[in-house]
Amino acid sequence: PKPLVQVRNLKMYFPIHSGLMRRHSGDVKAVDDVSFEIRQGETLGLVGESGCGKSTVGRAILRLYEPTAGSVVIDGDEVPALSAEALRKKRPVMQMVFQDPQASLNPRMTVADIIREPLDEHTTLSRDEKLARVYELMDQVGLNRAFANRYPYAFSGGQRQRIGIARALALNPKFIVCDEPIAALDVSIQAQVVNLLEDLQERLGLTYLFISHDLSMVRHIADRVAVMYLGQIAEISPRDALYARPLHPYAEALLSAVPEPDPSREGARQRIILRGDVPSPANPPRGCNFCTRCPKVMPICREVEPRLIEAEPGRQVACHLVNPSPG
Ligand code: SF4
Ligand code: MG
Repeated sequence: PKPLVQVRNLKMYFPIHSGLMRRHSGDVKAVDDVSFEIRQGETLGLVGESGCGKSTVGRAILRLYEPTAGSVVIDGDEVPALSAEALRKKRPVMQMVFQDPQASLNPRMTVADIIREPLDEHTTLSRDEKLARVYELMDQVGLNRAFANRYPYAFSGGQRQRIGIARALALNPKFIVCDEPIAALDVSIQAQVVNLLEDLQERLGLTYLFISHDLSMVRHIADRVAVMYLGQIAEISPRDALYARPLHPYAEALLSAVPEPDPSREGARQRIILRGDVPSPANPPRGCNFCTRCPKVMPICREVEPRLIEAEPGRQVACHLVNPSPG
């Protein structure tokens, strides 16, 4: 089956202006040549440390930012090429669930108003039909209908995230970018929200890009995982293969910090501590972006940028140590 989402050579550069004349003096390469696909009904986890560009990828593919370059095909449409009106018509298909439900919900609107807003904007449903849809959505995300006329402040963080999810579902999307959807929530309710997202995916056939720095949670929810470092993808692998045996040295270091859920295997993996700081995305190193910190760095790494290639069936890695699988 064709992937629902195809991202090719995506770049998102933010210009830097400096000096008295505010001259353009360079670019922050927040996303620098990123490619991946997401199949229908799949969850692709996108992980990496804060500042690696993962949130920017999510915003650029939904065109909340205008990408600098690259192709993003979502459900058959080249999103960066859409006119303003075509983009507006496309919005229902592709939605976002934000990290901070507090900041993304208008405090002066009731829950019903918040969930109804996309219906007002994109449908010609009658008042009663909209209300029925709002109630249906509240049921789907586990919010009591009796709360429809309350304001966001009356809710807990987990309930507010349910409101945000209900609004994202209002127009029957196919693809949802979940940007750190549980990072702002108490640990005790994180699993509830993740389980809700999984349940909705199954019932509604949704496709997710799940952006998170929480590698244990990503292990739970993702089918495949893309690991980002300094604006680029280091590795994309099926979840189990990645967590069992990461191929890219950065993925190896990142995952070495994740607690091993199987106690019989605890201690099998050594924690890898990386030295040095992540370089600035305004001035990434020559060659491999990871060469300044990689425990396995070789001379070629400081000269030649490794391309993301298929290292094993279904696994793509950008590292000179990894040879492509034969055939
Ligand atoms: Fe390390 Fe070189 Fe591989 Fe980059 S290309 S991850 S520096 S071994
Ligand atoms: Mg980020």
